Amino acid sequence: MTAGIGVIVRAVPNQHKCTAFLSTGRSEGRQAERTRCITVRIAGFFVCRRLGQQCFAFCNGNWNKGRAQDGNWMARQRLAIIGAGPKAVAIATKAACLRDLAALPLEVVIFERDVIGAAWTGQFGYTDGLQRLCTPAERDVGFPYDTDLAADLDRAMLARFSWTAFQIETERYGDWVDRGRPKPTHQDFAQYLAWCLSGLGPIRFGPVTALKHRNGRWSVRYTSRDSGASISEGRFDGVVVTGPGPQSTNLRKVADGRIFDGVDFWRPGVIAAVKQAAASGPDDPVVIIGSGGTAAATAAALVRADISNDIRVLGSQAALYARADSYFENRTFRDPKFWSALSAADRRTFSDRLTRGAVWSNVVNVLAGVERIDYLQGAAKEVRFDPPGTVGGALMVVYAPSAHPDAEVPLQASAVIDATGFDPMWFRTLLSPSLARKLNNEKKMRTQMASDLSLPLEGVPRLHVPMISQAVGPAYNSLMALGSLSDAVLRPYVSAALA
Ligand SMILES: Cc1cc2nc3c(=O)[nH]c(=O)nc-3n(C[C@H](O)[C@H](O)[C@H](O)COP(=O)(O)OP(=O)(O)OC[C@H]3O[C@@H](n4cnc5c(N)ncnc54)[C@H](O)[C@@H]3O)c2cc1C
Repeated sequence: MTAGIGVIVRAVPNQHKCTAFLSTGRSEGRQAERTRCITVRIAGFFVCRRLGQQCFAFCNGNWNKGRAQDGNWMARQRLAIIGAGPKAVAIATKAACLRDLAALPLEVVIFERDVIGAAWTGQFGYTDGLQRLCTPAERDVGFPYDTDLAADLDRAMLARFSWTAFQIETERYGDWVDRGRPKPTHQDFAQYLAWCLSGLGPIRFGPVTALKHRNGRWSVRYTSRDSGASISEGRFDGVVVTGPGPQSTNLRKVADGRIFDGVDFWRPGVIAAVKQAAASGPDDPVVIIGSGGTAAATAAALVRADISNDIRVLGSQAALYARADSYFENRTFRDPKFWSALSAADRRTFSDRLTRGAVWSNVVNVLAGVERIDYLQGAAKEVRFDPPGTVGGALMVVYAPSAHPDAEVPLQASAVIDATGFDPMWFRTLLSPSLARKLNNEKKMRTQMASDLSLPLEGVPRLHVPMISQAVGPAYNSLMALGSLSDAVLRPYVSAALA
């Protein structure tokens, strides 16, 4: 906190008005200018906001009757976010609303490797962009609009950044309602994210290559897309890492052009390559390894692409578990009190049942209607050539049924798609080796995560990783409650600005 200079505040609590006497400095006297401003309640503080001009004074809720008191300048807070996806948009838009409401000196800088919403466009893997979200459009960047950070914040978010505001501004609202409020395609969602961020402030394009901390602040190094230069930008109070990460490398696989993964499968032209591989072994199935949403979406895409081979989805679970929309499940995603009353085991069961390894029922129903698709239970051990070592020979997936974990059952494949999941700890490679080593204890990182979704790392400024935050709340790694996610991440910075 910096001591206030020349700002004297008298507040009238509950009237949401205060009178601020602004002077240009103590030596010049106290009443150089007199003005009225509005008081906004933020994180328990009354913050004075002089309309049209920043007035970094706050009343702190204390009213010393008849006595003017010195106000304080708010302390500037800077937050860096890696990735311009929905999480970054949720945080940056709420910070923008806080700045508007109360001139809160809260700066958010986003670093994006490709384009805003890249993972949803269909141009950079993860999706073809044509699939629809599994969650409804109303779960937008402000949902569930129940923030306790500041009065009027939900109203501002809803008016400026909601899906409805986007539909109205792009003149599609009536049509969208008349069509039964369909879930957006991933491409539509990417457009919405870009619309939210338009004109909002700093986005640096280019991959982040390193994160360093010194004297309690982070610096972010990235390779500028425009100039190709390696640039370091510093003095961040915290960093948020977003995104599911690249394909996980847990499954041992030989290098071969007939093997694809859950990220690359969706890049332009790759489904045609899978089709070609499948056609060269028409009697062997295409094998998709995994039992979650990516595996199911991949199988559905192969059917749409008219691949005539059998399709075997090979997963370690007993079945492709279906998830439907249910009030009782949905409300748990946005009820922190309910969540905190659950045991660790119940939280894990909930997450496993509803997020990891669960497929939305509409997708399961599509797959169930296609006779050449079948599900095989088994934990894949490796993908190798047959006989082993014959590069370019037959492709063999080796797996073990759960009742016989030591068994090695071979399954010949024309093409293989590794949809076993992503690596949310990918950012380890950005850190110094000593810090990266601390993250090797992934269980500790997950179970001892702070309520602001930062990792339990002593002596290190906040490093928020919502993708591994299931122990704190069930919604922060998905689109289920992006408004709650932004509250959780921004809360310490709002408090620090005012403290
Ligand atoms: C295909 C798919 C569909 C999904 N559908 C749903 C759904 O319908 N409902 C739901 O609740 N959840 C869904 N999820 C799960 C989950 O919501 C998302 O994975 C997650 O919330 C994505 O949001 P994000 O902002 O964290 O990351 P992303 O949107 O993935 O954004 C991460 C960004 O980081 C960028 N990036 C990566 N590396 C770097 C780097 N080194 N430097 C700079 N930038 C970098 C990427 O280009 C990307 O734009 C889906 C996941 C996937 C993969």
